[in-house]
Amino acid sequence: MENPRRLIYDLDLAELEQVFLAANEPVYRAKQVWQGLYQQLWNQPAQFTNLPKALREWLDKTFIFQNLTPDQVLYSTDRETRKTLFLLPDERAIEAVLMHYDRRKTLCISTQAGCAMGCVFCATGQMGFKRHLTSGEIVEEVLYYARMLRSEGEQVTNVVFMGMGEPFHNYDATMSAIQRLNHPDGMNLGARRFTISTVGLVPVIKRFADEKSQINLAISLHAANDELRSSMLPINRKYPIQELMAACREYIEKTGRRLTFEWALIQDVNDSVETARELSNLLRGMIAHVNVIPLNPTHKFTGKGSSRERAAAFKAELEKVGIPCTVRMRRGIDIQAGCGQLASRAEK
Ligand code: SAH
Ligand code: SF4
Repeated sequence: MENPRRLIYDLDLAELEQVFLAANEPVYRAKQVWQGLYQQLWNQPAQFTNLPKALREWLDKTFIFQNLTPDQVLYSTDRETRKTLFLLPDERAIEAVLMHYDRRKTLCISTQAGCAMGCVFCATGQMGFKRHLTSGEIVEEVLYYARMLRSEGEQVTNVVFMGMGEPFHNYDATMSAIQRLNHPDGMNLGARRFTISTVGLVPVIKRFADEKSQINLAISLHAANDELRSSMLPINRKYPIQELMAACREYIEKTGRRLTFEWALIQDVNDSVETARELSNLLRGMIAHVNVIPLNPTHKFTGKGSSRERAAAFKAELEKVGIPCTVRMRRGIDIQAGCGQLASRAEK
């Protein structure tokens, strides 16, 4: 039988109030519950000691407070990165990673189990699409790490949607999750602290541009000509580079915000100085920033990550023409922190 209880993180405050109203519970209690969830970070009805006992029991009967079961927690050898593999009630596996960069505590979270986009070098793409996550499941990934960090006297500072899945293929759930985490009476995590990364779903980029939000956007580019890009990212056949770039320019014009381009450096494929020049031609006149990261090796793709030297030369070529570029070295490669690498095994 299907569980009649709803995951409490799937509801925004207004919906929670509706449920209270419908059950003849005082509506102001809904806000107390909300604050308990998102400020106190409680995840069991028994923790809500500010509520009458009968109400706690009703909460317990009405809602699910935990959908994600941590299955494995892995630490990188430098302990700067930790990764959790979660199991969902339907046995699907997803993962989320916490990274410490400077004083930032950045979470890299999933929006789908698997991914339908099929990028050849991506472990998540290689496993195919399993299902969308609900907004509450996405929120729960963040809450899990928020609790863990709080117990260490720290807090989440940034959230990037660069785990498993394509956030713009699960747009409504992704945006609702951000709204819930952004709520002033809840976690109050500012919109600028979020970064959505997309493979380049053009109509959704346009829709997102129209929202004029402060959420950061990153585009996974990886190649500056259609032939190469289509061979690695199948979505490029549907939305080729010209269309993608037009949508990117539109986004910058409408929002005035800088755009980030992601580039996984693959040895002898897209890491030459000539390729950097091809990329700089594409980005001419844009307010853009390029993030390059040497490819993380995966089982079903033979390409190798570029060396530090090649990465530095690529960066230098871009910066010559005024395009800022950051080289991120592979963090936590020893814990398979690359997108979907752990979950694709758990699914097997
Ligand atoms: N689906 C979204 C977000 C999740 S992937 C997207 O594609 O943008 C997050 C980033 O990891 C993307 O830039 C993606 O291209 C990159 N990525 C995937 N597999 C990788 C690998 N094996 N090595 C390095 N980067 C990878
Ligand atoms: Fe999906 Fe992003 Fe992986 Fe491509 S890179 S398969 S879009 S998760």
